[in-house]
Amino acid sequence: SKPRVIVVGGGAGGATAARYIAKDSKGEIDVTLIEPTRTYYTCFFSNLYLGGFKEVSDIGHTYGKLAASGVNVVHDWAVGVDRDARTVSLAGGASLPYDKLILSPGIDFVDGAVEGWDLSSQNAMPHAYKAGSQSELLKAQLVAMPEGGTFVMVAPPNPFRCPPGPYERVSMVAHFLKNNNPTAKIIVADPKPKFSKMALFQEGWANHYEGMVDWIGEDFGGGNVSVDPAAMTVSIDGEETKADVCNVIPAMKAGRIAELAGVTDGNWAPVNAADMSSKADPDIHVLGDASQQGDMPKSGFAANSQAKVCANAVRGALTESKVFPAKFSNTCWSLIAANDGVKVGATYEATPEKIAKIDGFISQTGETSDVRKATYEESEGWYTGITTDMLG
Ligand code: FAD
Repeated sequence: SKPRVIVVGGGAGGATAARYIAKDSKGEIDVTLIEPTRTYYTCFFSNLYLGGFKEVSDIGHTYGKLAASGVNVVHDWAVGVDRDARTVSLAGGASLPYDKLILSPGIDFVDGAVEGWDLSSQNAMPHAYKAGSQSELLKAQLVAMPEGGTFVMVAPPNPFRCPPGPYERVSMVAHFLKNNNPTAKIIVADPKPKFSKMALFQEGWANHYEGMVDWIGEDFGGGNVSVDPAAMTVSIDGEETKADVCNVIPAMKAGRIAELAGVTDGNWAPVNAADMSSKADPDIHVLGDASQQGDMPKSGFAANSQAKVCANAVRGALTESKVFPAKFSNTCWSLIAANDGVKVGATYEATPEKIAKIDGFISQTGETSDVRKATYEESEGWYTGITTDMLG
């Protein structure tokens, strides 16, 4: 019988891996993708939806083309992995055998990370760090803010999904408020002393949203936070603020199935850089945000890049096809205001220890509006490219 690959999670890492293995093996490998949702809402560009640059339908993608390209798409949750028997059990009761298992479940939140907040509070104080209904909820709360109201963000500690994500969100929320509620305020409580593309974001906030954003970093007590979702209050370094909207983005860890499979070490799943195989089990590969791989940020671009390396290695192991040396790349674009795009990126190689950075680049402060517009347009091209690369 044919070798069997099971992929858990149909996001940036998992969908790409499933599609490339099915496509390149030309039917020699059975590929099954387990994904509970029928529409994948990309976190990438979900901030642009908050800002009013995208509709929610623009960021939703279905799995029909992936199924038509030969991937067996099963809409269910993986709830267990038996590594000795090499089977994955599903919430619906099925147990599926594999030769190679690829886990790309994204993130879950660390329990108790923000005092006063747990998943049962996510309607009062949304995270919107998994896209879809949470993004729509946060947008509705933003639209409903009273005139001159207060938007509070509780930013996460490192490492977390999409290092520039919270700050792009601040920019997009500010853009929306500038046009709809210009006396409103944004307060960011941050447990970190600095953040990705900080100089670029701070320049952009001063240029476009003067006086609207109050970023409170670690040095000013931004990490000393508790929330009361019933009272809609946030305490930052002992000072209580009444919030009209409170976006709590807690500390993160690998999606729970990685823990259930026993491939995590603390919060993340350590992997070998050459093929993204788990350090705990050579027949399990972990991609994207859930993995602890070295120098790459947790991004959709990175997960897609890792998935292609993994797909090539898995196909090689199962069919003896040629395996190319691992190379990775990443770019994270962020939109600060209309046509004001910035980016940071790098290329990487596999070393025995980790995915190691070779070379990087970053947008500069003071760039012309033409450069910024071109950068934004690149991000539009990237979005179309990656969603097609993932899902066909
Ligand atoms: P995901 O894409 O989250 O996919 C995980 C999938 O696994 C989900 O569909 C989930 O339903 C499924 N799953 C989980 N558990 C199970 C289970 N037990 N059984 C079956 N399925 C399961 N990245 C960029 O590159 N560029 C950007 O501009 C960008 N902007 C962002 C903005 C925001 C606000 C956020 C939050 C993130 C952004 N990212 C961006 C980061 C990007 O979304 C993630 O890094 C990327 O999605 C990671 O891919 P993944 O495959 O690890 O996880």
